Amino acid sequence: MLVAPQIRRLLAPNPSPLTGDGTNTYLVGEQDIIVVDPGPDLPAHIAAILAAADRGRRIAALAVTHGHPDHLPAAFALRERVGAPILGHPSLAGIDHPLRDGALLEMGDVPITVLETPGHARDHLAFWIAADRILLAGDLIAGAGTVVLDETADALERYLESLGRVLALAPRVILPGHGPLIPDGQAKIREYLAHRAERDRQILTALQKGEATIDEIVRQVYASVPPPLQPLAARNVRAHLARLASLGKVTRRGDRWRLSADARP
Ligand SMILES: [Zn+2]
Repeated sequence: MLVAPQIRRLLAPNPSPLTGDGTNTYLVGEQDIIVVDPGPDLPAHIAAILAAADRGRRIAALAVTHGHPDHLPAAFALRERVGAPILGHPSLAGIDHPLRDGALLEMGDVPITVLETPGHARDHLAFWIAADRILLAGDLIAGAGTVVLDETADALERYLESLGRVLALAPRVILPGHGPLIPDGQAKIREYLAHRAERDRQILTALQKGEATIDEIVRQVYASVPPPLQPLAARNVRAHLARLASLGKVTRRGDRWRLSADARP
């Protein structure tokens, strides 16, 4: 499916509560193609990528936004088949070329700029096509629903910085790692920033009723989340609490959190 000039999308057959419809793999370029997020190592998906890149076309590189198992593993299978190098964050094991923030990838028809965008994962990159103001967002932004943060204490801080950074680029279109194309990129990023601020407010409001554990907060703030996803909701609540603590708004005693004396939701 052509989602932008010179960009095709292939949907991997790996739907799940975490991956939505499945992982989006993007083929950027007409002749010399950079495959962004090869996806899971599923034979049907590998075959679809190879078929989309045949007849005089060439896979010049395999670029991964981050190392999660729904984004990276097909890169190794494709490297074996076509010999293209794997490009990704320097901390990813088994890749050929580490990508630094600001690097310009010119091995395909379409030049792509690398943006370091941690928050969902420590090793997360986004890819920016400046000429068309298209952002290939990986799991920084999803086409539907919201994003799970990584487990490090400053994940939310970094995530908000990453969102601010891509907002400043004023993307026209966002191509997410999961879900449909996002036609108004800037509006979606602002919506994400507002959503995080709303979560802060909800958590502070929950703590106004008294101190609480993370699980108790999850039950109040993420009441509609199905049980299998509650550990991930807990991870996001933990990330919010860590940031609120760094701002002096909440404090922790053992596994219970409470409002700081001067905090106001
Ligand atoms: Zn991910």
